[in-house]
Amino acid sequence: MIDTLPPLRDVIRTHELRAKKSFGQNFLLDLNLTARIARAAGDLAGSDVLEVGPGPGGLTRGLLSEGARRVLAIEKDARCLPALAEIGEAYPDRLTVIAGDALAVDPLAHLTPPVKVVANLPYNVGTELLIRWMTPQTWPPFWDSLTLMFQREVAERIVAKPGAKAYGRLALMVQWRAEAKIVLHLPPEAFTPPPKVSSAVVHITRLDTPRFPADARVLERVVAMAFNQRRKMLRAALKGLHPQIEPLLHSVGIAPTARAEEIGLEQFCALARAVKGA
Ligand code: SAM
Repeated sequence: MIDTLPPLRDVIRTHELRAKKSFGQNFLLDLNLTARIARAAGDLAGSDVLEVGPGPGGLTRGLLSEGARRVLAIEKDARCLPALAEIGEAYPDRLTVIAGDALAVDPLAHLTPPVKVVANLPYNVGTELLIRWMTPQTWPPFWDSLTLMFQREVAERIVAKPGAKAYGRLALMVQWRAEAKIVLHLPPEAFTPPPKVSSAVVHITRLDTPRFPADARVLERVVAMAFNQRRKMLRAALKGLHPQIEPLLHSVGIAPTARAEEIGLEQFCALARAVKGA
């Protein structure tokens, strides 16, 4: 369908949507760009999509014009609701808008899994939601992909590999259960108003089962301890984990003198299994 809605700059003016810092608002007003982000979420035809923080709705329009069957958009700033209602009129029965905090809404009350999640959120909310979406009570979760905008440094932490400065807890938590890649880099000028930092869109596709077996809680504890003191050798950083940490490290082929940033996901999972079994 052809988008007959007015340009986003007119929408902002008509509805007086001056960006507010308190809501972390940096809007995307270029519809070519929002369509690209929507396409980065994969083939949306026939999919249920959760969009968090639609703002004036640039990305929402992209998701609908790219064929999403249904979009649930959760927006905290009530000033955006009339602009979003206009989009709902242009795409009858395909857009549901909820006014509220995405951290407090259960998307499954409105959508049928598997859901594609797409968001350009304030960075702190995005990281909190990412951690929540990556660590549900049961796996697989309600979503099959997450396409999320982050501050560039955070995006790099999500996709980092062993040996990289950005490698750590976030990379391991995401990559244990999903594929993650950066699909788009955006300079500050892509946003209105421009933020102080560059941004990147990360596309995360979940695996049906984790890449290597491990107890999620034990793995999280091992990784957290290892990286809390990332400059220390593992035999020191993990001393509090188990009284026999050196033989345990040896048993899974990790040198006790190695540092966390040198250890890959498979070895961390092996260590988590050894710790659990010891
Ligand atoms: N997606 C729009 C775009 O690309 O132009 C807006 C992006 S702006 C960075 C973030 C949006 O998230 C704002 O509209 C803000 O009001 C909304 N927001 C902030 N915190 C939120 C929360 N906890 N739940 C839902 N929406 C939130």
